[in-house]
Amino acid sequence: MPTFVRTEKCDGCKGQDKTACMYICPHNLMKLDKDGSETGHAMKAFNQEPEQCWECYSCVKICPQGAIECRHYADIVPLGGSVQPLRGSDSIMWTIKFRNGTLKRFKFPIRTTAEGSIDCYGGKPMPKMSEITADGVYTRAVMGGFRAGNPAELIRK
Ligand code: SF4
Ligand code: SF4
Repeated sequence: MPTFVRTEKCDGCKGQDKTACMYICPHNLMKLDKDGSETGHAMKAFNQEPEQCWECYSCVKICPQGAIECRHYADIVPLGGSVQPLRGSDSIMWTIKFRNGTLKRFKFPIRTTAEGSIDCYGGKPMPKMSEITADGVYTRAVMGGFRAGNPAELIRK
């Protein structure tokens, strides 16, 4: 279920060219509505395509104002409950609110590796797009192996 922005808390990351939530979303879903023409809320961010959100929580964690929340599946977080993180410099605090009002907080250390310092490929070569469908890249030829997608099998056409 998608994230949403509490407009009363969002400050548009103080008008920077790229807001923190836009920077971090792996799916490029967050957008700053600079003049309010898209949402009626100028200088507030919003999730521009909620159906595509995989609730990875990256934007929720990075928002410096704690303005982003996530709607959860009701079987995990029943209506009235919430799961909200608050990131510090060396730890993250998760606040779990139960629907009966009970609050529990869990604090965990977080990694302190400098941003941008990760070696994504760990010395291994970059993947080649030309080999993306080759056997062994994602799948192995067992039980039929890789087969191309069939549009007729899509649930939403
Ligand atoms: S990171 Fe938070 S404060 Fe910044 S634009 Fe996004 S929702 Fe608003
Ligand atoms: S939860 Fe993840 S996928 Fe969804 S808007 Fe936030 S960063 Fe993007």
